[in-house]
Amino acid sequence: MNNIQNILKIENLTKHYNDFLALKKINIDIKAGELVTLLGPNGAGKSTLFSILSGMLSPDRGDCYISGKSIIHEPVLALKNLGIVFQQPTIDTELTVLDNLLFHARLHGIKTKNIKEYIFKELSSYNLENKIYKKVKILSGGEKRKVELIRSLIHKPKILLMDEPTVGLDPSSRKELLLKVHTLKNKDKLSILWTTHLVDEAEKADRVIVLNKGEILKIGTPSEIIKKMNVQSLERAFFKLIESEKNNDKI
Ligand code: ADP
Ligand code: MG
Repeated sequence: MNNIQNILKIENLTKHYNDFLALKKINIDIKAGELVTLLGPNGAGKSTLFSILSGMLSPDRGDCYISGKSIIHEPVLALKNLGIVFQQPTIDTELTVLDNLLFHARLHGIKTKNIKEYIFKELSSYNLENKIYKKVKILSGGEKRKVELIRSLIHKPKILLMDEPTVGLDPSSRKELLLKVHTLKNKDKLSILWTTHLVDEAEKADRVIVLNKGEILKIGTPSEIIKKMNVQSLERAFFKLIESEKNNDKI
């Protein structure tokens, strides 16, 4: 079953690593232009979910549809509409910024003619135009992340996945990245699924999904979750959910 209205549909996804249950019957729908934060502590299963969404890992059961295309049965068509920034940097540090971006463009069959202009414009929007011919290894962590973000969007995907992209960034780079993500949502109407263990990054999301030990504990707008948990802030709601789970309380 798939639904074209949803840019991303995750159905009954289950994944084990040997006997360890990493994801248990995950169901998530993301609509066009929605910014959803997947909030979970370390080990919750966020990166496992992203590995399945990017076709690197097979689920035991369930499926994911990107713009209606199954990642299991139509991976090439599904991945056409997906942009991803992984938790660990995956950029070639020995290549220049331009060559990294051109390589990705060619992988997606994008013609080189206008793409250089586009890359220059995108780099300029981060004040990185003077780094275009530099090897990636000389860039700061924040600059590398920005190049990875540009790369993830070069083929104009419908949904962007970012796995803890702000980890290791200084406060100003973190703020800049958050602002950029909100611009992509508001101006470019991009759907975004963003993982984090930092509650403040989830506060402005359209919806928040709280994941813990491979299970979804809550899905809702930040204010719905705060209200349901009968607390004053998303941070308190998050900790209450995780604590209740530890004590096996019913919420
Ligand atoms: P998160 O990204 O939320 O921190 P992960 O998806 O990386 O969580 O990991 C979820 C759980 O699965 C963790 O307990 C982790 O130790 C375990 N895990 C992740 N990858 C593997 C693997 N390749 N083999 C065995 N266990 C794994
Ligand atoms: Mg992770």
